[in-house]
Amino acid sequence: MQMAAPQEGSPFVVQAIIQDHSTQNHPTQNYYRENSMSISPLMPVYPRSGVRPVRGEHCHLIDEDGTRYLDFASGIAVNLLGHSHAGLIGAIQDQAATLMHVSNLYGSPQGEALAQRLVDLTFADTVFFTNSGAEAVECAIKTARAYHQSNGHPERYELITFKNAFHGRTMATISASNQEKMHHGFQPLLAGFKYCEFDDLEAAKALIGPKTAGFMVEPIQGEGGVRPASDAFMKGLRALADEHDLMLVLDEVQSGVARSGTFYAYEQYGITPDILATAKGIGGGFPFGACLTSEKAARGMTFGTHGSTYGGNPLAMAAGMAVLDAVGNDEFLAEVRKKGERIRSRLEQFIGNYPDLFELVRGKGLMLGIKMKAESRPFYVHLRDKHQLLTVSAGDNTLRILPPLVIGDAEIDEFFEKLSAGAADYEIPEAQNG
Ligand code: PLP
Repeated sequence: MQMAAPQEGSPFVVQAIIQDHSTQNHPTQNYYRENSMSISPLMPVYPRSGVRPVRGEHCHLIDEDGTRYLDFASGIAVNLLGHSHAGLIGAIQDQAATLMHVSNLYGSPQGEALAQRLVDLTFADTVFFTNSGAEAVECAIKTARAYHQSNGHPERYELITFKNAFHGRTMATISASNQEKMHHGFQPLLAGFKYCEFDDLEAAKALIGPKTAGFMVEPIQGEGGVRPASDAFMKGLRALADEHDLMLVLDEVQSGVARSGTFYAYEQYGITPDILATAKGIGGGFPFGACLTSEKAARGMTFGTHGSTYGGNPLAMAAGMAVLDAVGNDEFLAEVRKKGERIRSRLEQFIGNYPDLFELVRGKGLMLGIKMKAESRPFYVHLRDKHQLLTVSAGDNTLRILPPLVIGDAEIDEFFEKLSAGAADYEIPEAQNG
């Protein structure tokens, strides 16, 4: 469809894409320069890079021109089992041939089995399946509000959320984050969120008032820069929630499902939440998520209060079962911790060689970040385009290291070869230098 020519400075989406571009002569950028009269068939909301994968093999992606990339991004913490995992493929193929989708009007043996498995593995007593992380967070927000409304407190609808959080791109989930870049063009936001400094327990306590329904927090901020909350903060939020009858909602969409070295990161803080949102890794690449809650927290989620056409369909459940078969056991989790520690200690040694470039390493398990002294985005582009190493850049000048959890020594060695070569021939762009 032909569109009116964008006015200089007016269509914020196109502007944002052009401004957000990390490389010169980027294909998407060129597209807009050369075709300023038309919109691409794929809505142009992503500044897509020139990497165009068409195939995956274990921990590598293969581009349409045959270039092989080492994938330490995993589709942003999704492909836990890497690409082309035989168990996951087999489960999806078998289920697709047997029964792909039925409505939630009927009983769900597949959904019951996976929900039971998640209940057995976690704090949860009940599970609602969704199609994405944002929907899992939406369900978590609704559950927290409904808890208080069903208790006769409709005025308690506010969640205290934390600065630089990322909870998704729906109206409620952008409203839950203070990141203004996600709000631009979409006001008015949904009411009911108060933003607090991350990891600041006193500030969180000070925000509690008569409207407070609970806290919603990522135990390890992902997009915000791979920042794990402190032990005292997480334990403190749990204690405040208990004291004031508030819901402690955890967003473990990125940190969950073995990524942090435990099945969920909350286990490492010695607490349990009331409600937890999970997605990404849980399908290993098949898109689905879930909202896990205790029986107490789910008291408002009764017949007719929530739903989803696709949520928990047999195909998603088969993928989830195959993922849990692989990762939901102590041996696998111990391996993730071991590999995480190995990479972390090598990274700490490595960054010492480049004191002008890197500041520190942080994270848990195989959710690691290198905080840089310069902007991380150009370095991430350099690793991708010059060394065929895929990572993810995040807030706070952080490079996210999110490999498939099934990496072995060969992939770890290849990662360090590429990273070392990338650091050795990297020149910090002029604008950032000094
Ligand atoms: N919550 C967190 C912590 C995330 O990292 C993300 C996605 O990056 C989401 C929620 C949203 O998930 P989705 O993109 O599947 O909607």
